[in-house]
Amino acid sequence: MIRIGAHMPIGGGFKRVPKETIEIGGNAFQIFPHNPRQWKAGFPKEDDVLEFRNRIKKYNIETDSMLSHSGYLINIASPKEDNWKKSLDLLIKEMEICSILGIKYLNIHPGSHLGAGEDKGIKKIVKALNIALESEKNTFILLENVAQKGGNIGYKIEHLKFIIDKVKQPERLGITIDTCHAWDAGYDIVNKLDEFLDKIDKLIGLEKLKFIHLNDSKNELGSNKDRHENIGKGVIGEEGLRKFLTHEIILTKPWILETPGDNEIHKQDISKVKEIIGVI
Ligand SMILES: [Zn+2]
Ligand SMILES: [Zn+2]
Repeated sequence: MIRIGAHMPIGGGFKRVPKETIEIGGNAFQIFPHNPRQWKAGFPKEDDVLEFRNRIKKYNIETDSMLSHSGYLINIASPKEDNWKKSLDLLIKEMEICSILGIKYLNIHPGSHLGAGEDKGIKKIVKALNIALESEKNTFILLENVAQKGGNIGYKIEHLKFIIDKVKQPERLGITIDTCHAWDAGYDIVNKLDEFLDKIDKLIGLEKLKFIHLNDSKNELGSNKDRHENIGKGVIGEEGLRKFLTHEIILTKPWILETPGDNEIHKQDISKVKEIIGVI
């Protein structure tokens, strides 16, 4: 059985997420652990946590199918000390929230070096991750590949490898592959998928690939834009996504949609995916 879901809203509480996941045809999900546009993050209310955990069990959602996505303001590659420290503190808080909710994986963007250079950026990321993994001991961190823009680190699989190789607890790191980001960064995940997966396997190991962010792209291969599109409506398209999704390795990973729109649109995207790969 495939594992599929979408990025879900948390307004009004985390408890709404498991049921709404099932309602849109999913069995996996991603959430933000707090308002992603704010530096401030509170711990979830006790009754909300209890209900959330109960419903995870009730709807049979597996631990490996639940993902949390870090907030937008965090940049642990930042060369600015105050910004780096604030980012680290919020990252640790997010890990604590994940632990309270029982969500094992926290997905992060490696960050932007803001012009200081990739080597310096990677050093800052490793330093932050070492502190974070030492201060919160439950949550696993997944590094997401990104598009090449704005000093971003992580548009190459090599970047993710360097970070994992250098941290003190590599066993608590993994990766997420975002199809739109990979496409926009110039990886042809349709016609050269085996080459792409071989690269991940050689550099990092495919067992560390924990999630797929499943998005079509508004732009051409290598455009470096990062504009997600609904399933089948973008440049990767239905046929491209069919080739990607029916690969024996990809079929074993949970797929999370981050396409434009709300639950209703995601419900349509999920049925589109099932239609594309021939699963009803
Ligand atoms: Zn992301
Ligand atoms: Zn993504």
